[in-house]
Amino acid sequence: MERPTLAYYRSLPKGDLHNHCLLGGRRSVIEKFTGRRMAPFRSGGCGIADLNAWIVSELRPLIQLPGGFEKGVEAAFLQALHDGVTRLEMSIDVTLGALSGIPATRIIGVLQQAHVTVAPGIVFLPEMGFPRTRSLRSLLAAAEPFFSSGYFRAIDLYDDEEAQSPAAFRELYRLAGSLGMKRKAHAGEFGTAESVREAVEVLELDAVQHGIGAAGSAEGCAAGSCTFFASNAPQIFPV
Ligand SMILES: [Zn+2]
Repeated sequence: MERPTLAYYRSLPKGDLHNHCLLGGRRSVIEKFTGRRMAPFRSGGCGIADLNAWIVSELRPLIQLPGGFEKGVEAAFLQALHDGVTRLEMSIDVTLGALSGIPATRIIGVLQQAHVTVAPGIVFLPEMGFPRTRSLRSLLAAAEPFFSSGYFRAIDLYDDEEAQSPAAFRELYRLAGSLGMKRKAHAGEFGTAESVREAVEVLELDAVQHGIGAAGSAEGCAAGSCTFFASNAPQIFPV
């Protein structure tokens, strides 16, 4: 039997519910605009630290060029369109403004503009992204203009799973829940089944990003985690 081609899979309508915007863009679009090439990512076996190092050395310098942020967002919508995505849940980091000097109003304007001009047919749910390495106080301060805009529909938590326990972010997730936002978090990307279970329970998650650790631990299953995931059923995206 002939295997379907990549073009066939691209032609099928699909949802992309785990997208980090500037990390999800078509690299050719960014490289053509900036005239610079990004070295391909290579894992050195250090988990999220390898990815963070690649972002700092390869992606961030291009995004910080004049017009680079706008082109990065445009590239993300172009990639989604190219992949046949019809529903896009895509996060933008709330600390980006402080890191790159881009105010929240401009970030929201760029997202709106790119959605309308590049892919108006895609159902887009803007998401606020929170790095787990920052204190709750600093994150709430950075996120205030994002929350007050009323533009965002979901939140996500990512970066080093070891940095802080889910309990440190309970207040943030309660706030998002009170505003009717979808509550997502990375858990089990590199952590254990128990860490996924803890995140689901403490943060009252609607969806788990990655969550692969939920299946990888015999101890976790023996302790009841598998039954827990089967019966508590947040969405889990084992990427
Ligand atoms: Zn992710």
